[in-house]
Amino acid sequence: MNLTHPFLDADGDKLREECGIFGVIGIQEAAALTALGLHALQHRGQEAVGIVSYDGHEFYTRKGLGHVAQVFSNQQIFAELPGTMASGHVRYSTTGGSGMRNIQPLFADLAAGGFSIAHNGNISNAMHLRNELVRKGAIFQSTSDTEVIIHLVATSRFPKLLDRFVDALRLVEGAYSLICMTPKRMVACRDPLGIRPLVMGRLGDAIVFASETVALDVTGAEFIRQVEPGELVEVTPDGTITCHRPFGEPAARPCIFEHVYFSRPDSIFDNKSVYAVRKEIGAQLAIESPVEADLVVPVPDSGVPAALGFAQQSGIPFELGIIRSHYVGRTFIQPSDGDRTSGVKRKHNANRALVEGKRIVLIDDSIVRGTTSLQIVQMMREAGASEVHMRIASPPTQHSCFYGVDTPERSKLLAAQMDVEAMRQFIHADSLAFVSIDGLYRAVGAEGRNNARPQYCDACFSGEYPTPLTDLVEREAKAAQLSFPVNKVA
Ligand code: AMP
Repeated sequence: MNLTHPFLDADGDKLREECGIFGVIGIQEAAALTALGLHALQHRGQEAVGIVSYDGHEFYTRKGLGHVAQVFSNQQIFAELPGTMASGHVRYSTTGGSGMRNIQPLFADLAAGGFSIAHNGNISNAMHLRNELVRKGAIFQSTSDTEVIIHLVATSRFPKLLDRFVDALRLVEGAYSLICMTPKRMVACRDPLGIRPLVMGRLGDAIVFASETVALDVTGAEFIRQVEPGELVEVTPDGTITCHRPFGEPAARPCIFEHVYFSRPDSIFDNKSVYAVRKEIGAQLAIESPVEADLVVPVPDSGVPAALGFAQQSGIPFELGIIRSHYVGRTFIQPSDGDRTSGVKRKHNANRALVEGKRIVLIDDSIVRGTTSLQIVQMMREAGASEVHMRIASPPTQHSCFYGVDTPERSKLLAAQMDVEAMRQFIHADSLAFVSIDGLYRAVGAEGRNNARPQYCDACFSGEYPTPLTDLVEREAKAAQLSFPVNKVA
């Protein structure tokens, strides 16, 4: 997250981040393998990519805006990133601005040597920490929350780097899965609640870390296990692995939205198949909100597994009533609603011959602003569907995420503004239903949500944030102070 405004960077550009990270130690051409791993994580970040490598003497960096295949477009590039240790990062933000200085991994020369850091997540007290550091004389190079960790490591009073790192993390609130490199080791860690994912694998003698298991599959690495919430795994060039639990073993709160939308369906998240969970959410929806219809139609690609589950549970045939063009980027990242609307049209087209005269159940994973649902329902009607029912494979998204999933400010979330009936009218559907929060928890294998001790972070649905949101609280307090005289005059 950038630190000048929740949605604007210093240049006034929109900058909301979602990320994927990958690292490997103990293999020739580590940077090329990292590019391959990042390619498998491209869905987590499509705007910028960076790789840092280390060859036993020096660190080397290459970063650029664009997809992995564009920035690392030929084999010669890897000659400039030599070494047996490398880590990389893909970032997803909205449009605008060069943003080059925020591309990760970030790198700094500390007193103890080089230090690189790749971060997936979002630090919810980064602004607070940054202000304190700046007051003490720190000079920041980027507007990224991640840079705060570098400064905290640099200024810690502990002599050993690992202790300095833990010392820094103790001050940090929010979500972080990190892959760091120093001349002597790679360190991977997850925040104490394990909000964002991180897994560990083995490729011959090399150890690999990645945001999702799909990156292990693609690079040929064997899945060992997930990095546990609050765990810090240290790997030295000779392959020695040391695990630390500096934060004890608090109850984990992994992000349930990884299951709903964010992770690839062929990944294993929190030791469960994302695909199987999504299908089961669809089955739960069919049980909770059945409807008489002729066809179950997924909104591609995000609604496909849930639609299969809905179809299998209800006995209504699954059909591809919407065909997706694979040559259009994600519509969600278009800056204005107008752009997003035409983006949806370019991306999806009705399979008219199939849907004409049919009662359709449309399935998508979520409604955020409502742009996609509105367009798709209309598209089905224009193609001659006699009824259009919408079923959503998550509860209403009523709250913003402060932990690294891109959601707009609350005022733009349809479900924060309207109840389900008003949303139904807004998207012009014949009926609209969302899976219940307990239905979602059943799909991940629980009996339901444990309201006293929720098993996941579901803040986007429940509004219950599992960590303090210091920056938000301070920002709101400041806004309240600033608006006081105005209110008084008014
Ligand atoms: P909207 O059109 O604004 O209602 O957004 C809903 C669509 O965006 C759904 O089809 C989702 O698959 C997709 N979506 C939901 N959350 C996100 C996210 N955080 N980033 C990108 N796409 C998303």
